[in-house]
Amino acid sequence: MTRTGKTRTALVVGGGIAGPVAAMALRQAGIEAAVYEAYDSTADGVGGGMTIAPNGQNALDAIGAGDLVRAIGTPVTAMGLRSWTGKHLAQFAPPSRLPSLQFVWRADLYRAIYDEAERRSVPVHHGKRLTDVTDSDSGVTAHFADGTRAGADILIGADGIRSTVRPLIDPAAPQPKYAGLVCFGAQMHQSGLPSTGGVMYMCFGKRAFFGYQVFDDSSAVWFVNLPRTVPMTVAEAQAIGAQEWMRTLLAAVADDRTPASEMISRTDVGQLLITGPMENMPRVPTWTRGRMTLIGDAAHAASSSSGQGASIATESAVELARCLRDLPYDQAFSTYEQLRRPRVERIIKLGARTNGNKSAGPVGRVLRDLAMPVAMRLINPEKTAWQFDHHIDWNAGAAPLT
Ligand SMILES: Cc1cc2nc3c(=O)[nH]c(=O)nc-3n(C[C@H](O)[C@H](O)[C@H](O)COP(=O)(O)OP(=O)(O)OC[C@H]3O[C@@H](n4cnc5c(N)ncnc54)[C@H](O)[C@@H]3O)c2cc1C
Repeated sequence: MTRTGKTRTALVVGGGIAGPVAAMALRQAGIEAAVYEAYDSTADGVGGGMTIAPNGQNALDAIGAGDLVRAIGTPVTAMGLRSWTGKHLAQFAPPSRLPSLQFVWRADLYRAIYDEAERRSVPVHHGKRLTDVTDSDSGVTAHFADGTRAGADILIGADGIRSTVRPLIDPAAPQPKYAGLVCFGAQMHQSGLPSTGGVMYMCFGKRAFFGYQVFDDSSAVWFVNLPRTVPMTVAEAQAIGAQEWMRTLLAAVADDRTPASEMISRTDVGQLLITGPMENMPRVPTWTRGRMTLIGDAAHAASSSSGQGASIATESAVELARCLRDLPYDQAFSTYEQLRRPRVERIIKLGARTNGNKSAGPVGRVLRDLAMPVAMRLINPEKTAWQFDHHIDWNAGAAPLT
């Protein structure tokens, strides 16, 4: 394919959230796409829960896949903020005209997306760890650790925050930076607590940040962000063991007048998920080189505090496919980046600011607890709607931006 021709084939590296969604969107755009995932299986049983915001659901709706999330999700109608004293600091929700956020288990989401990709005949190849890419005038070749290769017109790096494609595009690309917090979570089948009525509570504890929601059937989810100055990898955190971490978490929330102690102590040790360090990803200056581009966390990882990483990953996957449907690949890549960059960078900035609040010291904590109710009263839900009320008009033609 020449630079001016239509893209016919694409290699999508990474079978997390952005990758399979991109492949389905490309297929809808008339482009043959296959996914290459490093691991041998999907993320079954791996890694905690997350919320999918209305904008993420809208992006999935553009390719007829929004119901996947709503079928496995539990609505989160509002977020309530509390201090360690139990004091209600604020409550916020997307404007009522928008659909609710949906809480999903990560493994359920990955599985649902995989099953749908399979149903739509998108090839997904497991055990294919990308190691190198060669890019020429006529196409791109991916090289995998098992010695195999694959070729196509273009390659999309959807390989997450520790992307291999990112430094292949720009060897000077930045790496994620430790955000000063280590993350844990758990599911409770029976919490013994009353339902929080669709509200997910976020508690700025004295020594740790605690989030929880109790569902109508008394099952519940909780998570902790524990401040820790010295960086730690997931493997190092997991090596410490669930038993030891449960003790540490209980000590960290001991003074808080929130349900944290009760919930953690009632949780089966085997249910503890040690999800590891929270990270902030610096701005990635270059998303594209030649026939390669980036989507999802590889391009724009928002800290988990933003609750938007998966949603904006989905948006980028769909937006890129729309651009590739209508434009030669080089124009499609630059139009996609121009459309996406301002929005994702604004969301990333908000998430990084929240991390600062979570790891605040004693003085910062007092100031935060005083300032937050005032600040929240001044926030009109319509002013935050830009984050949630984002639609991709799949049927609109993509044209280069000036
Ligand atoms: C603790 C935690 C909580 C979070 N909570 C939320 C939340 O509430 N809401 C939200 O929207 N987001 C949340 N996020 C962020 C969200 O998980 C990510 O933004 C989202 O998973 C990004 O999707 P992705 O497809 O870009 O990357 P990933 O889901 O990370 O997928 C990348 C895939 O690429 C594969 N891969 C990597 N290298 C290679 C290679 N060389 N070759 C082939 N394949 C490769 C990986 O195995 C992986 O399957 C949270 C993240 C964390 C860590």
